[in-house]
Amino acid sequence: MRYILSLDQGTTSCRAFIFDQSAKVVASAQCEFTQSYPRPGWVEHSATEIFDRQYQVCKEALNISGVKIEDVAALGITNQRETLVVWDRNTSKPIAPAIVWQCRRTASLCREWKKCGWEKEIQEKTGLPLDPYFSGTKLRWILDNVSGARQAALKGTLAAGTIDSWLLWKLTGGKIHATDITNASRTLLLNLETGQWDQDLLDLFEIPYSLLPRILPTTTHFGETDESWFGTGIPILSMIGDQQSALFGQTCWLPGQVKSTYGTGSFVLLHTGKKPQRENKRLVTTVAWKRGENPIEYAVEGSVFVAGAAIQWLRDQLGLLSSAAQSEALAKSVSNTAGVYFVPAFVGLGAPHWDPMARGIMVGLTRGTRREHIILAALEAVAFQTRDLLEEMAGTSDIERSNLRELRVDGGMAANDFFLQLQADCLGLPVIRPRFIETTVLGAAYLAGLQAGLWNGEGELESLWEVDRTFEPSKETDNMKSAYEKWKRAVALAREWSRNTP
Ligand code: ADP
Repeated sequence: MRYILSLDQGTTSCRAFIFDQSAKVVASAQCEFTQSYPRPGWVEHSATEIFDRQYQVCKEALNISGVKIEDVAALGITNQRETLVVWDRNTSKPIAPAIVWQCRRTASLCREWKKCGWEKEIQEKTGLPLDPYFSGTKLRWILDNVSGARQAALKGTLAAGTIDSWLLWKLTGGKIHATDITNASRTLLLNLETGQWDQDLLDLFEIPYSLLPRILPTTTHFGETDESWFGTGIPILSMIGDQQSALFGQTCWLPGQVKSTYGTGSFVLLHTGKKPQRENKRLVTTVAWKRGENPIEYAVEGSVFVAGAAIQWLRDQLGLLSSAAQSEALAKSVSNTAGVYFVPAFVGLGAPHWDPMARGIMVGLTRGTRREHIILAALEAVAFQTRDLLEEMAGTSDIERSNLRELRVDGGMAANDFFLQLQADCLGLPVIRPRFIETTVLGAAYLAGLQAGLWNGEGELESLWEVDRTFEPSKETDNMKSAYEKWKRAVALAREWSRNTP
């Protein structure tokens, strides 16, 4: 038997899984790491701690499994995207804390550049809006603000990269400085057509080429782990950003296939085929993956900043719930929200609105409003936000509405059957939950295993992928239609409120 060691370096924890040849988990380990919030809106990680924890969970998973290292055919990596690390090539030490995707420290820089009219060119080349979320302005910030960074960068002694790149560097003992193209597509520096760093953008961002990793496909021979880590070298055969990995892990391999991951926020990715779909500026165009020498495959993506976090807020800030899971029984106990609409725009709105100024609102409250109504309204809000994205996706790419046949789901909220039924009804589409819900780490494992020849192509993997439950939509009623119209009015109010209120 041969095995895959698959690493999931997430925003709050590092995980390692060992999969066998039937894509079943043999062992896993997980460890959280420190989140730093040095100023309002800033979020940092220690890249050193991330690597140490990641290595520790790999060792733990290997120990638990009892698998011999010689039987590990390949290592795959999936990771939190956009988070940026700069390190010294000689010492392999980061020169500053990693700037996390959530960090808003470059918001004013983005505003300034938008005023200069640079967003259009950036968006045309990269498929991304000019937002602090992406890595490019984070790298610029380090060069401008960390003492000596720019000089060292010009001398060629520094290396920069997203988390995949950092892990690869450390795992290969500082031999390989490379990134995979899905991670590169989140930096604001990748030209989506050429699949390479765009020199005009590097000039605009004032980033020296020598700082950046080499861009490689999602599956290739990235290098081998240094013998000091596991005693013998394991080939690293896949690297992929977490949302793209979930898309692959959900076996969404054909244009029109779409998945939604419901965690703190939610991320909907639609596979769009071999041509980037860029006409809709309200969605992000991103690389889905590039397998070896095959052409790049693309996706459009909608990111919603608050999904499960709305349930957390009802639990922790309002005390309406004792656990997130309790939302299911409470929401089920009422037949509707009694006219309540809740827009959880706590940190502005992401796709498709991209409105950093919007703030959360709850409307339609009466003396009769009960906590159950509010909880149901929160679940509905997540379902409506997903519908907003799918309407946007169907309307503007080559993918017709009729091509969208089903939605595959994962993430913490996918444990809630009542919510998934609500989502199916709201979309008018079947919602499918797989049996193995950790699709993010599964995607990287599938890709590494395919590259290692563990599986005979996608067909074999499709037969290993199992559905847990399909939630069939009920027919859309007039009530459902009017509820969605009212939701849209509530969103408009959430956007107007902060604009028109001093
Ligand atoms: P992340 O990876 O972003 O940390 P997870 O995928 O672990 O998120 O999902 C956690 C989120 O899902 C939390 O915000 C929580 O409120 C929500 N959640 C978990 N279980 C349920 C449930 N049964 N019903 C509704 N929401 C849930």
